[in-house]
Amino acid sequence: MPDEPLCPDKDYLLNVLKDLIAFKTVAPPGSHYNEIIDYLISVFKSMGFRTEKIVMPQEIFEAKCQDSRLTGDRVNLRASLDSGAKETLVIYTHVDVVPAGDDWSTDPFRMVLKDGRAYGRGTSDSKGAVAGLIAALRALLKDSKSKYNLSILLTTDEEVGGYSGLCFFADQGLIKGDYMLCMDGFCDDLVIGSNGIVTWEVTVHGKSAHSGSSFLGINALEKSLPVMEALMTLKKAIQSRRSTLRASSALEAIGIENLMPILNITMINAGIKENIVPDRCVLRGDRRVIPEETMDAAMAEIEKALGPLDVDMDLKFFPGYPPMRMNPDHHWIGEVQRAIEQITGSAPKLSGAQGSLDQAYATDKTGIPTCVYGVGRQMESNIHAGDENVRIDDLVNFAKFLLALMGS
Ligand SMILES: [Zn+2]
Repeated sequence: MPDEPLCPDKDYLLNVLKDLIAFKTVAPPGSHYNEIIDYLISVFKSMGFRTEKIVMPQEIFEAKCQDSRLTGDRVNLRASLDSGAKETLVIYTHVDVVPAGDDWSTDPFRMVLKDGRAYGRGTSDSKGAVAGLIAALRALLKDSKSKYNLSILLTTDEEVGGYSGLCFFADQGLIKGDYMLCMDGFCDDLVIGSNGIVTWEVTVHGKSAHSGSSFLGINALEKSLPVMEALMTLKKAIQSRRSTLRASSALEAIGIENLMPILNITMINAGIKENIVPDRCVLRGDRRVIPEETMDAAMAEIEKALGPLDVDMDLKFFPGYPPMRMNPDHHWIGEVQRAIEQITGSAPKLSGAQGSLDQAYATDKTGIPTCVYGVGRQMESNIHAGDENVRIDDLVNFAKFLLALMGS
């Protein structure tokens, strides 16, 4: 008789998820990190993992994070299991969540099951994946073992958008393996790339004066108009480009077939009173960089567009996560695709994320082949919104997919 396929325990999975949701690991400020990591340490220890609680040292936090909204320790977990295999699989996601907001029908930190879905902050982004992973490991390790050595990275501060726990791990050489699965994604597609992000800031300088004799001053706000016009001209050129990487199924449904680069002006600050000529105008925005572009080229392009203007200004860039792109023919992508197909019955579409991922920072730093697959659905999980939810079937299927991937 053939062996029964291993099956995750759905009730156990949902119980773990309920526990995880109850930790208010809201970032910023980044609360209850210690508590959730201690909980996870006991779970992974009980399955035979070696666990390391890794706190970002204060001097690194001060040098890299510079975000006054963050308080307390930046606590992260690495859990390792030697299966005696030749190759090591690194599995990552984050355990912090965005603040709940007011727009909820139920308590966001008490998981509620309703109409085939689990509701709660983090059900989809990304604690559901953690619960799926734990349920899969528990089923797998009961009587058999993983075909890879495992390195599980459960980190924090991803939702802050800057120097996350994963970036810290990457810089400290704590990410070691042959393949990497990032669970911080959707189950709509298999993501093999993402856009990079650069934030920019232009400060236009002028000279203040009484507005009744404004000809005696230099109006920094009015002087910023040609800067904005030059950026809008550049925006048109940039946004007519397309990556060869396909956009997500959700974006494809609204007519965006491939990843596209973006230039935005999103903030303007100038002036203190109607009758004072402003001496300073600060414009801010961001540039989304497709995998075919480089961060440096994207910055140089903005510099070049503003260079010829007769405006007294300073231009600053704050590079964030780089773009990411995997070779779709890499055998690791094929492995993951096959495991998904085994469970869902169809091979997932390979696509890219318009947003930027801290995973891309880690992939760039380590060179480990990576793909991104998670539990939520882009158009229905209400990620970062009220009533965040995940389909219970998707949670169970995710655990089954992991079993197909890790089992021999
Ligand atoms: Zn996430």
